[in-house]
Amino acid sequence: MRVLITGGAGFLGSHLCDRFLEQGHQVIAMDNLITGSTANIEHLAGDDNFRFIEQDVTEYLYVEGPLDAVLHFASPASPNDYMEYPIQTLKVGALGTHKSLGLARARGARYLLASTSEVYGDPLEHPQREEYWGNVNPIGPRGVYDEAKRFAEALTMAYHRYHGLDTRIARIFNTYGPRMRLDDGRVVPNFLGQALRGEPLTIYGDGTQTRSFCYVSDMIEGIEKLLLSQEVEPVNLGNPQEVSILELAHLVNEMTGNKAGMVYQPLPPDDPHVRRPDITRARRTLDWEPKMGLEEGLKLTISWFREEMRR
Ligand code: UDP
Repeated sequence: MRVLITGGAGFLGSHLCDRFLEQGHQVIAMDNLITGSTANIEHLAGDDNFRFIEQDVTEYLYVEGPLDAVLHFASPASPNDYMEYPIQTLKVGALGTHKSLGLARARGARYLLASTSEVYGDPLEHPQREEYWGNVNPIGPRGVYDEAKRFAEALTMAYHRYHGLDTRIARIFNTYGPRMRLDDGRVVPNFLGQALRGEPLTIYGDGTQTRSFCYVSDMIEGIEKLLLSQEVEPVNLGNPQEVSILELAHLVNEMTGNKAGMVYQPLPPDDPHVRRPDITRARRTLDWEPKMGLEEGLKLTISWFREEMRR
């Protein structure tokens, strides 16, 4: 296959590049590097099957040659990042999705959209099934991401229904692992950076809010299986092991030997109270479920962050 990965220099995008190259495919990574980094793909330079194009995917896309698959992963994905780049976040979810869908259609390529658990907003149903329509504040600080991804899903389904494009929608829940930026702002890199510097962990709110964390290798496997499946409906991908932020903080301090404890800071507006994927559909249609437990995944991530902080 010849595969285009938008956001290919980002956290998930770069791991996808690795996976497809390992399997002998040709990969073109596209990224404008506002939140992605060439450090994530520098080990691929010199691989004849790999090409990097620095480009904003909200502009007209031109890629030479045939394409078998387009995976649209370009977008800021951390609440900090999408609050810093609110308009780019809306544009990449809307215009970037439109451009990449158009390219897939022109080349007869299969299309996979990286959507998100944020389409469920601050959910009133728990755990979240794909049938749930969500509870999103369109004008809150997270609206720029949530609504862009909801629009992206609608546009993807329109291309499927109207143009017959072969499409997939992955609803990605919290994922962590090597290559997250230390200054990314999401809870795992924040806590690990703080713990390894011997600082107190910053708990937003009272820490009773929950998330369910999936290790990156499990997520990449799920995305690949979804691409190769025939499932056109959205599929939740994530780890159903749910923890409170306070439990996560205790675990991180214990695993790193950090004695500095925790400090409490205000809860950001519209921060979801609970989040856990119902992965029945992924289990049934993809024969996929995560294998990596939280402690095991954190251990691998901690050693990567340790190295990264020595650089
Ligand atoms: N959070 C926290 N301390 C931090 C960073 C995040 O308590 O230093 C909380 C945040 O308020 C949220 C959860 O951790 O409830 C997960 O936040 P993250 O930014 O990772 O992503 P989200 O799941 O909210 O999109």
